[in-house]
Amino acid sequence: MRHQNLWAPWRISYLKGLGDDPASTAQDHAPGAPGTCFLCDAFDNLAEDQARERMILLADERGSLMMNRYPYSNGHLLVAPKHHVADISELSSDERAGLMELADLGNRLLRKAMRCQGVNLGMNLGRCAGAGVPGHCHMHLVPRWNGDSNFMQACAGARVIPQALDESYAVLIEAMNKG
Ligand SMILES: [Zn+2]
Repeated sequence: MRHQNLWAPWRISYLKGLGDDPASTAQDHAPGAPGTCFLCDAFDNLAEDQARERMILLADERGSLMMNRYPYSNGHLLVAPKHHVADISELSSDERAGLMELADLGNRLLRKAMRCQGVNLGMNLGRCAGAGVPGHCHMHLVPRWNGDSNFMQACAGARVIPQALDESYAVLIEAMNKG
């Protein structure tokens, strides 16, 4: 498949250095054996550089907030509960409330740090619904900008360049640490 680089509306001046081995990245979107779920791994005691490598913005009792390494657009975030369950119906009310709080945190970060004007927020529950990690339910937040209506289409088969993700991680984590 021919890969196209995404046009990115922020400061990216060069395109290079794509790693083609998805297994080499911290996020494994294949159905994980126990102990290999990257959404659970976010709760390991990670040093700052490990968290940055895995693009984890936050992991606390409410759940985790991280960037998606296989994004629909740069800034695509994942929000997951701490509890490894396939469906939101298996979460407690408190866990569901915590998940929504983190979704709102992600929403505010994207608007503030990525200056997006809108956000698509959704969940794919079950493999047939498109879940890449069907064992651990999670929300997607995809930032949107005015006039990007053709942008999503352009993403089919595309790769977002790693430098763009690294820069986005830097601005998102800075915005979060500032509160
Ligand atoms: Zn998990």
